[in-house]
Amino acid sequence: PAPVVAVVGRPNVGKSTLVNRILGRRQAVVEDVAGVTRDRVAYDAQWAGRRFTVVDTGGWEPDARDRAAAIAAQAELAAASADVVLLVVDARVGALDEDEAAVRMLRRTAKPVILVANKVDNARQEMEIAGLWSLGLGEPHPVSALHGRGSGDLLDTLLAAL
Ligand code: GDP
Ligand code: MG
Repeated sequence: PAPVVAVVGRPNVGKSTLVNRILGRRQAVVEDVAGVTRDRVAYDAQWAGRRFTVVDTGGWEPDARDRAAAIAAQAELAAASADVVLLVVDARVGALDEDEAAVRMLRRTAKPVILVANKVDNARQEMEIAGLWSLGLGEPHPVSALHGRGSGDLLDTLLAAL
């Protein structure tokens, strides 16, 4: 089976935009988890001739309740089931407590995690991501999911980890 990449992070950091960027264009849903389609959706992806499955998840938040708790649980399940996790943070906001909590959650899964600094739309913003090293995941990988900036380098890094 193709290796699986889970895309995880708090709400609105650009996870779904990044998934669409990775796919290049909209592709067929290959796996629906019954009843929770919007919370954990897997797509067939390909880069540099290698196939993998990319799983979009809903926003992960610590101490989520009700519907948000179910969404967060699905995101945790996606991470625990993946070969590699892309933790997406909003580089324009910087590392929040919620992002640090996500790092702790991901540590418990023991999966390799690549830190994605999204919304780096230009070179000036790229110089401001150094603070994300504080998350303890090593090098932050700058990308603009919206415009595509840095996405090729990110995918090269991802394939090297698969
Ligand atoms: P999700 O909740 O993490 O899946 O986030 P979405 O993919 O739905 O994106 C949330 C918002 O951030 C949307 O308005 C996107 O257009 C915006 N966004 C996503 N990626 C980028 C980016 O690279 N740059 C900028 N400027 N905005 C982005
Ligand atoms: Mg989304």
